[in-house]
Amino acid sequence: MKLKLSTLPAYLKLDRVVLADKLDKPAAWIPELPKNKEEFEARKAGGEKFDRVPSSLVPLCERMVKAAAEHDGVGIAANQIGINRRMCVIKEPGVTDEFRVFFHPSYTVDGESKLELRPEGCLSVPRYQMQVPRQTIILAEWFEFDSDTGKLVSMRELFGGDLARIYQHEVDHLLGRSILDYAPRDIRRNKTAFIKKLVSLR
Ligand SMILES: [Zn+2]
Repeated sequence: MKLKLSTLPAYLKLDRVVLADKLDKPAAWIPELPKNKEEFEARKAGGEKFDRVPSSLVPLCERMVKAAAEHDGVGIAANQIGINRRMCVIKEPGVTDEFRVFFHPSYTVDGESKLELRPEGCLSVPRYQMQVPRQTIILAEWFEFDSDTGKLVSMRELFGGDLARIYQHEVDHLLGRSILDYAPRDIRRNKTAFIKKLVSLR
């Protein structure tokens, strides 16, 4: 199939989203923030205050929200737009239009969880949907700034439904994975070649 530039999806023309074959795993934790609950407690006990979003993170968070909204996505991980930080933004479809920022997101699988196959798309894998197995219930852990007090809070919450799926998708990106990693090898190879072709036309 011969591709013409005019047939490219709009978000590829915007030249912002890193495609799946180029996704790098963020190498560093966000240095301004504690990387886990233990470090959070230790730094707080040591007198450190986390009363504002560190100023270097503000424009990055704004870029992520803008990119996700512009591309009509429900979530985006920082490394998908070339930001080397362990954070993502997510909005829960049908629940809110606001994106929530997750710093250092991680999760464990709840004992009641089951694996469920459902189709997923991804901004880094244009024009493709595939059945991806995800856990139905996860215990998510992350940090966020409380919008009322502005203070950094260590969060821990059970997620189910779409939110659980989107969260696992974004954490995957931060581990350097995309939905293509769940595809059979031949499909992954074909799709990667297709993506490379799209890139060469940019
Ligand atoms: Zn994605």
